[in-house]
Amino acid sequence: MLELKGIGASAGIAIAKAYRLEEPNLDIQKKEVADKEAEVNRFNDAINQSKAELEKIKEHALKELGEDKAEIFAAHLLVLSDPELLNPVKDKVQNEAVNAEFAMKETADMFVSMFEAMDNEYMKERAADIRDVTKRVIAHLLGVEIPNPSLISEEVIIVAEDLTPSDTAQLNRDFVKGFTTDIGGRTSHSAIMARSMEIPAVVGTKTATGQIENGVMVIVDGLDGDVIINPSDETIAQYQAKLEKFKAQKAEWAKLVDEPTVTKDNQHVELAANIGTPDDVKGVLENGGEAVGLYRTEFLYMGRDQLPTEDEQFDAYKTVLERMEGKPVVVRTLDIGGDKELPYLNLPKEMNPFLGFRAIRLCLEEQDIFRTQLRALLRASTYGNLKIMFPMIATVDEFKQAKAILNEEKDKLIEEGTNVSDTIEIGMMVEIPSTAVLADQFAKEVDFFSIGTNDLIQYTMAADRMNERVSYLYQPYNPAILRLITLVIEAAHKEGKWAGMCGEMAGDEIAIPILLGLGLDEFSMSATSILPARTQIKGLSKEEAASFKEEILSFSTTEEVVAFVKEKFNM
Ligand code: PEP
Ligand code: MG
Repeated sequence: MLELKGIGASAGIAIAKAYRLEEPNLDIQKKEVADKEAEVNRFNDAINQSKAELEKIKEHALKELGEDKAEIFAAHLLVLSDPELLNPVKDKVQNEAVNAEFAMKETADMFVSMFEAMDNEYMKERAADIRDVTKRVIAHLLGVEIPNPSLISEEVIIVAEDLTPSDTAQLNRDFVKGFTTDIGGRTSHSAIMARSMEIPAVVGTKTATGQIENGVMVIVDGLDGDVIINPSDETIAQYQAKLEKFKAQKAEWAKLVDEPTVTKDNQHVELAANIGTPDDVKGVLENGGEAVGLYRTEFLYMGRDQLPTEDEQFDAYKTVLERMEGKPVVVRTLDIGGDKELPYLNLPKEMNPFLGFRAIRLCLEEQDIFRTQLRALLRASTYGNLKIMFPMIATVDEFKQAKAILNEEKDKLIEEGTNVSDTIEIGMMVEIPSTAVLADQFAKEVDFFSIGTNDLIQYTMAADRMNERVSYLYQPYNPAILRLITLVIEAAHKEGKWAGMCGEMAGDEIAIPILLGLGLDEFSMSATSILPARTQIKGLSKEEAASFKEEILSFSTTEEVVAFVKEKFNM
């Protein structure tokens, strides 16, 4: 029995056999073939088998994760139907009498290097598609099995170095009971997806792939961030008991699904959810979300090869607003850049993309893109309770410019005879320290603030949120962060505005009593965190939490804050 420590990225406990998701051995030898016709037939069979597999994966993604994710596999299917790629392979077999896998590899390599040499991110991405798809075809030709998580048919725990969003999209919830990875953190993509799929996960173990062999029993404890390899019967029994306790707790939480979030002293706070697509609204309602506090619209723009049209966007925004039936929906305008690239925009590579030309900076420069999104939003505004916020605001002037453009589009639409709601609140993300420090000035301009701690922490501590080596500096409870948050909440309240938070910190058990005491009005989190948060808040007194404010803000370290909170709130 061996235990690994990682980061609990998605709550729950899973006990099953390990399924290693790793690169298969696809070494290819050049061979001469006698029967060229038979070789071409073998190639055609491999193409058909690959297509059938991709169809299955696509269907699964569509069912489990929505249209956007399924599109990735639709693109792969297109590559497999492209005669420009397939004919040269068949010609090579016919003309040179070589084996199909060799011909496939040579042809694919030629296209891949051609696309990669182009100074164009879009073509580079196509190179990656070709490489991915070719691998599948070659595996069929060699008779090697490619690990195919969507086709797993027994209960397993996935063990991988890392999982990409497309790997995660393929996981079949009926059989994949949990996963563990060597790298990643709580705010990484696969972690956020695991939470919305309710698959227990432990990430950042550093050595899972080095220590876990295929088929051995593994326990993934996403509650405490532990992975146990080859557990004894006694340990398995202990974890089964822990799992039963967790299930009972979830059933208890579920009783609060239709209840408002009120503290012991009868104060209401709003518990909202973060979403990425209209399909996510289902999870929000099932988990008792009172609002959508952050709709990350960039997913509408990703996994495709051109900008979404105004009508496509209008449909998505209208769908979310209608499904939320009048509950507030805060839509964030395009936050592209940083780690979220749009290859088809052909933006030049930057030294520091997180500090570069992104989000509102890009929107104020590329106004066609921005205005199209704003028009779609304004047109959708009459279908529900829409609020709009701008990401990555650094200066008051940026906010004023963005709002002026919004108002121009609103006036134009009204002039064209289109109905636009006249109660749309306009707010901003507070994720750059300058805006927190100057929150008193911003508060005069905005209708609300939403604090984006995922970025605010990385910019305040100068510690990349994706870099594990500096993750010790990524400290949500550092008094420096808490003081910035306090500035924002106080400034909002002084102007009669509300302040929310949509970074991961809003759903954090230690942070919740602190934020309640600081007066935060809205907490927006992964949908699955809502019911535990509601349960916790119902047991807290806002007045008591507020009485600790000065003391908490007077500390100098994270450790002091955590120790104090645990003691005062019996955690
Ligand atoms: C944030 O920065 O806290 C945030 C909510 O936005 P994102 O995670 O999309 O950067
Ligand atoms: Mg952000």
